[in-house]
Amino acid sequence: MLVTLRDVPAEAEIISHQLLLRGGYIRRITSGIYAYMPLMWRVLNKIKKIVEQEMDAAGALQTLLPQLQPADLWRDSGRWQTYTAGEGIMFNLKDRQGRQLGLGPTHEEIITSIAGEIIHSYKQLPINLYQIQTKFRDEIRPRYGLMRSREFIMKDAYSFHSNEKDLKDTYNKMNTTYKQIFSRCGLKTVAVEADSGSIGGAASQEFMVTADAGEDFILISPDGNYAANQEKAISKPPKALSLNPSEPKLIDTPNQKTIEELCSENGLDPSQIVKVLALLASIENGEKHPVLISIRGDQELNEIKLINTLKTEIGKEVLGVTPITQEQLNLQGLSNWPFGSIGPDLEDSNLNGSKNWKTKFLRLIDKTAAELNCFVCGANKKNKHRIYMNWSLLGGTPIEVDLRKAKAGDFCCHNENQKLQEKKGIEVGHIFQLGRKYSEVLETGFTNEVGTQERFWMGCYGIGISRLAQAAIEQHHDEVGICWPISIAPFEVIVVIANIKDSSQKELGENIYLELQAKGIDVLLDDRAERAGVKFKDADLIGIPWKIVVGREAEKGQVELIKRLNRETKLLSTEKVIEKMFKETSGYRK
Ligand code: ATP
Ligand code: MG
Repeated sequence: MLVTLRDVPAEAEIISHQLLLRGGYIRRITSGIYAYMPLMWRVLNKIKKIVEQEMDAAGALQTLLPQLQPADLWRDSGRWQTYTAGEGIMFNLKDRQGRQLGLGPTHEEIITSIAGEIIHSYKQLPINLYQIQTKFRDEIRPRYGLMRSREFIMKDAYSFHSNEKDLKDTYNKMNTTYKQIFSRCGLKTVAVEADSGSIGGAASQEFMVTADAGEDFILISPDGNYAANQEKAISKPPKALSLNPSEPKLIDTPNQKTIEELCSENGLDPSQIVKVLALLASIENGEKHPVLISIRGDQELNEIKLINTLKTEIGKEVLGVTPITQEQLNLQGLSNWPFGSIGPDLEDSNLNGSKNWKTKFLRLIDKTAAELNCFVCGANKKNKHRIYMNWSLLGGTPIEVDLRKAKAGDFCCHNENQKLQEKKGIEVGHIFQLGRKYSEVLETGFTNEVGTQERFWMGCYGIGISRLAQAAIEQHHDEVGICWPISIAPFEVIVVIANIKDSSQKELGENIYLELQAKGIDVLLDDRAERAGVKFKDADLIGIPWKIVVGREAEKGQVELIKRLNRETKLLSTEKVIEKMFKETSGYRK
């Protein structure tokens, strides 16, 4: 089954994906769906074992929940719509009775309903249940092999508590457990503050493998005291250039539609301008809310922060936001808007008569804009802006929210001498304090010490097992192949018989193989009738940490031992090589 490829498959963009395909670890079946070949399965099992040992040690109990989940349970939690409509990622189907089912992308609904049935008293709490299982997600952009696939292996755990403090204790314990798991897997990870996304809840933290192939941007302070996903990150914006107050007036700004044009034509700095974005928010029940965002001209909008703010403002799930276009205005039967010259006070009458939009703007003002006391903004008339404006001229002090994107180079909030640095990261794990979100909507709980009914406090904790395996390759490879950390390598040692036709080589190689095996070492024997060079290349490509070459010195009972990582080579006797391999692998035989 050792079928390796010489050429880089065209479908693979990143090195880890290329090496997995070239090494014969995985086979693509269709978009985002892969077969794990025998070598891969060994890697996955090693990771699973580490995860199981650490989760068990933390007191969690392993279980296995169904992948097919009834739609009704997801309707009860209010997530059926968001997970199946529009850009929803849940595969779903109907059974022969016409009942709808979803293929599990995650298991909060199932586990919460089970807990509600079996846990009655605070005396049964806390409890932490986990499983390792295939998850299904119809990702919008499946790519990079196992990194973002549509069928993948996840470890997910769910904890239940009688109070918030107890939830926090378990959350902290999971934090330590995760660090232990990743370090045992040979991964360098950073824990970052994260947005909780559609899973919901209060605090959450992601574990990122820093690598250029990462899809997430993370911001880190050099002193290591702050790290966050850009989706969530906060920072101090650079100081605005002040604009000396004067009599407010209209200025002509012909064809100056962008901040850059406005600045270069009028000698302004972007930080002196209040930029207004007209967006349309799509709500779960089909409502469309027009939104006006004011933000300082040199700042960018963070869409995740915006969606979270909108959710709180509207009190409903927000599916997405898009810029409002002239075409949409036409379809709504609305008259033209002064795009390029819109001010924070664009009147609601601009929405009168719209077909299915709300007829009142939801106005949000980012802190950077709210803090300006003299600025330039659109005049709500084509080719006109207003200069020397302030918020009282626009109807009073605005309610400010944080909607801006934190960037590398910004100063940190915890220490103004620290500048944020940007790195790319691969999210391999995510822990959440869910709070009572699911126990409330699914109406599950327990009886407390004084006999009254309460809702569960919950946490949930995920690790992408198959993603982790590939992320490890991003951190551990060289120009000729994979260099697996020994703890998750498919085999610890490979014995290569250079010339299988040479009987003394063959005999010695097989003996070493059997002896290593007898000592409980994970060993692979390459006794193929291939040229030695081919076998060496394959061993390097598939990345086994130790290689024993049985070649010309076999007659003298000597073999070469080569360390994959640095190619350090030693000529050793049979006894010595076995002794050394036993020593090198002993820490991993748990
Ligand atoms: P992402 O932001 O990358 O889409 P997520 O936040 O949706 O991930 P969670 O619901 O937190 O993911 O799932 C737990 C873990 O499962 C993630 O930390 C990640 O390691 C893994 N994972 C999520 N989606 C995928 C996928 N499509 N392919 C492989 N692994 C995944
Ligand atoms: Mg996540």
